[in-house]
Amino acid sequence: MIRARRRPVFLAIFICVLTLSARAGAQQPEPIRYVVGFPAPQTHYAVVQAVVPTGGQPAIELMMPVWTPGSYLVREYSKNLESVVAKSIEGRALPIAKTAKNRWRITTGGAPRVVLNYRVYSREMTVRNNWVDADFAMLNGAATFLTLPERGPRPHEVTIQLPAGWKTSVTGMADAPDGAPNHYRAPDFDTLVDCPIVAGNPDIYTFQVAGKPHFLVNVGGDGLWDASRSVADMQRIVETALKMWGSLPYDKYVFFNVLTGGGGGIEHKNSVMMMASRWATTTHDGYVRWLGLVSHEFFHLWNVKRLRPIELGPFDYEHEVYTRSLWIAEGFTDYYGDVILKRAGLVTDAEYLAQLSDTIRSLQTTPGRLVQPVELASFDAWIKEYRRDENSPNVSISYYTKGALIGWLLDAKVRQATKGAKNLDDVMRLAFQRYSGEHGYTPEQFRQVASEVAGQDLGSWFERALDTTEELDYTPALDAFGLRFRAARPAPDDPPGWLGARTRVDGGRLLVTEVRRGTPAYDAGINVDDEVLAINDVRFPADQLDVRLRSYRPGNKVQVLVSRRDRVRSLDVTLGAAPRDSWELEKR
Ligand SMILES: [Zn+2]
Repeated sequence: MIRARRRPVFLAIFICVLTLSARAGAQQPEPIRYVVGFPAPQTHYAVVQAVVPTGGQPAIELMMPVWTPGSYLVREYSKNLESVVAKSIEGRALPIAKTAKNRWRITTGGAPRVVLNYRVYSREMTVRNNWVDADFAMLNGAATFLTLPERGPRPHEVTIQLPAGWKTSVTGMADAPDGAPNHYRAPDFDTLVDCPIVAGNPDIYTFQVAGKPHFLVNVGGDGLWDASRSVADMQRIVETALKMWGSLPYDKYVFFNVLTGGGGGIEHKNSVMMMASRWATTTHDGYVRWLGLVSHEFFHLWNVKRLRPIELGPFDYEHEVYTRSLWIAEGFTDYYGDVILKRAGLVTDAEYLAQLSDTIRSLQTTPGRLVQPVELASFDAWIKEYRRDENSPNVSISYYTKGALIGWLLDAKVRQATKGAKNLDDVMRLAFQRYSGEHGYTPEQFRQVASEVAGQDLGSWFERALDTTEELDYTPALDAFGLRFRAARPAPDDPPGWLGARTRVDGGRLLVTEVRRGTPAYDAGINVDDEVLAINDVRFPADQLDVRLRSYRPGNKVQVLVSRRDRVRSLDVTLGAAPRDSWELEKR
């Protein structure tokens, strides 16, 4: 999701695409054929053999991605590789040398194909990496497969060899033409990367929508997951999204649901890799959060996987890909994730409003909103959003949060401008019609589509919302949706003093974890990692900071004793008054 040196890249991609189309009628390139086995899965290794066509070249170079689409951070997947060796088909060793952190050069001796073997250490329980243990394997393409660094529709075939006791493998990839079990074929490398594979003994549940099969593939549910309820609710999510978009653009869809305590999800064209707690269906809040994940990721199959910023495809797997449009790709997806739950009747109006209020509150209490415009947040995802630290709230905002609110405001704008005849759904559908598939949209094109649907030029509104740090104006949206902000509760007669630092208790020590700009703690020079020892020379239990602050009033000057890198120092602090929450939405 990012941009600047962008022009030359565009040109290069464009030329490649032209070359490909010219070649499309010609013979299809020979596939790369992988066999992936797990001879000792308890040691966390996937063992890969790849038969790679050389085109008769005296040498070929192979490449491994450094990042995976949907997760905008260079992750250096090749760090998990070892024992990379090359042989001829007859088994003769071939010279192989590294030419970059993620590239290998094989001297082929003119052989039409070579055999590459390597091992991949697979022990990161996240949706964008690999996990292998005695019970199951989860493989993501970018973290697993080397390929030829070419652009083009070369098929990639994968055979999964199951260890004894594992009954199946599942992927969104199509079965290979031979119909053999655990044998899959992707028409190109992008599709291979876009189709994670799970092998083991997952619990598989099926439902149909519009005649198309959908699979919930649970790993690690351990009998604790309420499958019948979740499948019924997922079906409603799919049906509700279908109602908005008009058709389901896939043959099958796989929801991978790895229930080992991780979190998050990553979208693909006809599958999603999700992680959650195996207990998620046992509490209302946990379950609604999980439904929100399903709804968000499913919406992505349109918004970003098929209707995408122009920069996000064909992918350069070896470098950061910069885009300014993640406020659409992620922000609007977040907005619709909640809207679809509401339309599907899976959350109440009150729950929906509480969620929206939280999003507004989150933006309005983040000082970084006055520093970083949302398009810049998108551009800098690689170095900011995915590399958050203790200062992030002061200098950055999330394109998820601000993007979702811009979606909500734009929805209201279109409704008002068209007197209710159109809404954001129409914008998304028109953008899809015009720019989905091979096109991609530029920031200007998306803005233009929205103006067209609204029937008025939204250019200056977009400019303020996207390119500046001006506060968003919620008033028109409140009017359009019949809402208002609940009046802040009056301050108590004897308000406590407010420090404004976030803290945690660790082994009986009270540690500062975050200091936001504009708080008394920030102004007084209290730092992250300071251990708070005493106020006005009096100690208190580490978990009783709030209790102690009730003994003081806003405006009181106090001395806060902290330990910083083992040196004790006293800081003069003028306590403030906690801001009153004024971001709770209610119906008019
Ligand atoms: Zn997303």
